[in-house]
Amino acid sequence: MPEYARFTEDMIKTHTILVPDMLPVHFKLLISIFESKGYKMELLQNDSRAVVDEGLKNVHNDACYPALLVIGQFMDALNSGKYDPDKTALLITQTGGGCRASNYIHLLRKAVARNYPQVPVVSLNFSGLEKDSAFRITAPMFLRMLYAVLYGDLLMTCYNKCRAYEINPGESQRVLARWQAYLGDIFRSGSSGFLHTKKLYRQILDEFAAIKLSGEKKIRVGIVGEIYVKYSPLANNHLEDFLISEGCEPVVPSLLEFVMYCAAGTFNDAKLYDHVTKSSIFNKIGYDLIYSKQKELIKVMKEQGSFEPLHDFEHLRSLADKYINQGVVMGEGWLIPAEMAALAKSGVDNIICTQPFGCLPNHIVAKGMSRAIKEDNPNANIVAIDYDPGATRVNQENRIKLMLANARR
Ligand code: SF4
Repeated sequence: MPEYARFTEDMIKTHTILVPDMLPVHFKLLISIFESKGYKMELLQNDSRAVVDEGLKNVHNDACYPALLVIGQFMDALNSGKYDPDKTALLITQTGGGCRASNYIHLLRKAVARNYPQVPVVSLNFSGLEKDSAFRITAPMFLRMLYAVLYGDLLMTCYNKCRAYEINPGESQRVLARWQAYLGDIFRSGSSGFLHTKKLYRQILDEFAAIKLSGEKKIRVGIVGEIYVKYSPLANNHLEDFLISEGCEPVVPSLLEFVMYCAAGTFNDAKLYDHVTKSSIFNKIGYDLIYSKQKELIKVMKEQGSFEPLHDFEHLRSLADKYINQGVVMGEGWLIPAEMAALAKSGVDNIICTQPFGCLPNHIVAKGMSRAIKEDNPNANIVAIDYDPGATRVNQENRIKLMLANARR
């Protein structure tokens, strides 16, 4: 195996870890948990054509589009001169699943090695990968990260709903920023905030509910698809902003659904292959814990009553069973049809499925299943939009406008 720079204990103090801009709401909270452990982190915001060009320069063009963008964003940042390569590290996520996402890290290391061999790449994963790194996630950190995801999902849901209808422009953004800062401080202080979670959920809901909304009727558009392209404004060309500008309400399923989908994968496999392992037992325990926390949040959202609660994950699993086997776990697998069905059933008939170039598994499960979902939900208007380095934003937006024209009819 080729040699590469390792992230060592002393680098925790000396290095700034750059984080790709995948989930703007959630990642700010997650970063603050690492900051409480002494890590220095920065969420990248570089978002121009130069990112794509750097990706094309450094990654073979048959790699998936998310890999190309993440690597392009890192290389663009390093080339900017803003970061000292001797004091910079890069963070990349690894799912540990069977798809190519687990191997992006090697593509990134190869790209970095050419000009910045001293820059270490660290992996954020829950699969026990990269054991030789000093970048570690402990059990208490895992629990706090779970809460960060829950808070992030709640903020994202309330924000998307309110900003589509707000009477005073920017009010939802201000409430979001205030809560991000407040929760960030809680996590950064090392406090878990566990004891007051329900109270904080309630306060967040009440504050967003106090925003003055127009009450007009707008087209609600669900966004599903590959995880990076679904959430990252860099990857989907600011899809949520575009939908708002077109007079629509974006409805984005929660990140927790993807987390639970990954957790369910291992114990589902154990059942399917009749092969129970320590890891499958551990995953089932983790899944039950996460599910109980999801139910807690859903309960508070129902009691407060101003916002549509998140999809109950067991409900999603039962919806998936109608269309596809839960053994289909390459990429986002059965989660995409389950989310499309859940959106259609909750009255979000217009659904954009974001598809990155090079993503065979998601093209199969999304395009392949959308017909069956449309047959069950005759009002469903599902459109797959491709994202790749050659696709122009205008083309993507024109396809969405066509979809909206059908919806208006
Ligand atoms: S899910 Fe798609 S985009 Fe993600 S690693 Fe697999 S092929 Fe690539």
